[in-house]
Amino acid sequence: MPILTFLSEAQALHNPPAEYLHGHAVPFFESPQRAERIESALTAAGLIDKHVPVTMDAHIIAETHDPAMVDYLRDLSTNSQQIIRNDFAIYGMADTLKGDEYYYESIFPAQMIAPRISDQKSFIYDNTSPVGQGTWTAALSAASAAFAGADALLNGVNQAYALCRPPGHHAGRAAMGGYCYLNNAAIAANSLRNTGCVAIIDVDYHHGNGTQDIFWNDSQVLYVSLHADPAVDYPYYTGYTDENTPSNLNLPLPFGTTEQDYLGALATAFSAIQSFGPMYLVVSLGFDIYKGDPMGRFAIDVPFFEELGARLAGIGLPTLYVQEGGYNIDQLGNMAVNFFKGVERGRNAASTG
Ligand SMILES: [Zn+2]
Repeated sequence: MPILTFLSEAQALHNPPAEYLHGHAVPFFESPQRAERIESALTAAGLIDKHVPVTMDAHIIAETHDPAMVDYLRDLSTNSQQIIRNDFAIYGMADTLKGDEYYYESIFPAQMIAPRISDQKSFIYDNTSPVGQGTWTAALSAASAAFAGADALLNGVNQAYALCRPPGHHAGRAAMGGYCYLNNAAIAANSLRNTGCVAIIDVDYHHGNGTQDIFWNDSQVLYVSLHADPAVDYPYYTGYTDENTPSNLNLPLPFGTTEQDYLGALATAFSAIQSFGPMYLVVSLGFDIYKGDPMGRFAIDVPFFEELGARLAGIGLPTLYVQEGGYNIDQLGNMAVNFFKGVERGRNAASTG
């Protein structure tokens, strides 16, 4: 059975030209092609039942994010071209602009600037998250896909997929960074939690610092994350085991983690989920655990994603898969096809077993 999928073409409106690696402009890895490759591969395999999400009411996002952050993102996106033009005019270079520019935050430690410009506080914590004129619409469309997916679960659908872009799990209650603006998985979980406990399992390569932040004081939402050890990889400041609580479980893994090691950590995650007893499961789905990912350092190959999908669906809970990272453009489609073949297998096993 094809997976019920929510995807908006508005995702492509967010298309920054570059990210910066020690002064060098390199291609922006979090590109619109990512979603396009996944969609076309799932379509070719007959695995997708695609729907365009209804745009959600932006004020619902205030259940998840500081309303001031949401306003900041929308206003910065709307005014981005004028702000950049003003900055370039100072240097007499406004004529060099083409009109589809992206605002890259300049970073200052908050404690240095807050006393002077507290009324102009930025909510962006790194410069991998530029904002252009299409960023707000794209981010809202991704949040809407997740919200629509949660709504499908509330209406009795067993498994659904929000093909979100930009991703969300690095966006906290009042913080945007790591390619993320609105936390799609958290918005979905907040929608589901009104009816009972929710577990989020994050299988992206990176720790979902934003999701942990949003649910830190919420005992009704369990957050479990398998990720690269933050001592050696992004986001560095969170994702350690000493942050574990009854509703927050970090399982950091070393570089070179094998498929067997990963399944072992997954079993630990599953037993935490079972003890918690949620009504719904949200999966933050990253394909950057693949060994060929430009950012990943695990030893996990493409066929493994079928087993991952089967095990997640085998838990037997109504489940929403929310797309997070994954940056190997050539293999993204194959990983998604394998994953959702596995979901189908796991779903059948769960319903007959
Ligand atoms: Zn990631």
